[in-house]
Order: sequence, then C-alpha cells, then structure tokens
Amino acid sequence: MKRPILLHPDPRLKKTCAPLDDISDEVRVLAADMLETMYAAPGVGLAAPQVGVLSRLIVVDCVKSEEDGPARPIAMVNPEVLQASDETNVYEEGCLSIPDHFADVTRPKVVKVGWLDLDGTPREEEFDGLWATCIQHEIDHLEGKLFLDYLRPLKRQMITRKMQKLKREKAREAS
Ligand code: ZN
Repeated sequence: MKRPILLHPDPRLKKTCAPLDDISDEVRVLAADMLETMYAAPGVGLAAPQVGVLSRLIVVDCVKSEEDGPARPIAMVNPEVLQASDETNVYEEGCLSIPDHFADVTRPKVVKVGWLDLDGTPREEEFDGLWATCIQHEIDHLEGKLFLDYLRPLKRQMITRKMQKLKREKAREAS
C-alpha cells in the first residue's frame, strides 16, 4: 500500500531515528509499502521518516530503467556506512520530500555499507556511483539530515521558502 510522503519542512524529517531491535511483520509490511511508494513517485530511494515512521529503515533501487537491467529493490534495516573512499563524486541530488528542487552534493564515491535484511541476516556490500550517493542520502534521513543541509544557507532558505509556499497551497486545495 502506498503511503503519503512528508514534505519539507516537517519536524519529523529533522529527527534522529531509532534502531529496529526486532524485524517484525510490521517492519516487512512497512518496507514493502515504502518500495511501492518509492517506485510510484518515482524515486530511487526512500527512508522511513519520509513516511512518518522514525525507525532506521531505508529502501533503494538505483536501476532506473529496464535497459540498465532488472530491478534491484533493497531494504536495509539499521544501515551504516562502514568505510568511505577519499575519492568523491558530485551528483545532482533531489528528494521525494523536496519535489522539483535539485542541487549538486559532494559525497564519497565508494562506500562499504552494513545492514540487516528483512530476515535479520547481516549484510555487507560495497556501493559505487549513484548507489553510493543514494544510500548515503537515505542514511542521512535517519539522522534528520537533508541534502539541503549541504548547501549554502541562502540556497537552503530559498528552497525552504518555496516548499513552505507549496505546502500552504496544497493545504488550501485540500480544505
Ligand atoms: Zn531524500
């Protein structure tokens, strides 16, 4: 089931999320819902706080089109960057909580990530390029951090003001 995505600014997007001690059916349903929500958006990553759940769970799939190969949905419970390369990469990032705004963000190019899968099995893998950027962006969400936090204050404020306006308009339409 698709879930509504919270839009910036929202206090729930600024919170540090709690680790998941127990991977229950509820967590598996949440992960499935998040993947459905992400694909429908469409997007390449989504973090639990973006659907209002303050738990350390993210979903990603950076295979953008069929030409790039089969879909590769990954749900990561309690994900952690274990190692990051000195070499960096610049990607124009966006966020499903900040629609229609994009900006260049510099991050480590390669990261080794550890997480639990939905069966509770510990996993470890090295990610490169868009995958590395996307996973770092989603893990940031679990710390209450947005890609806007990497930008200069002026640009951040400009985007935040536009988002506030968009949210007011949406609230008016809904009422
Ligand atoms: Zn995001």
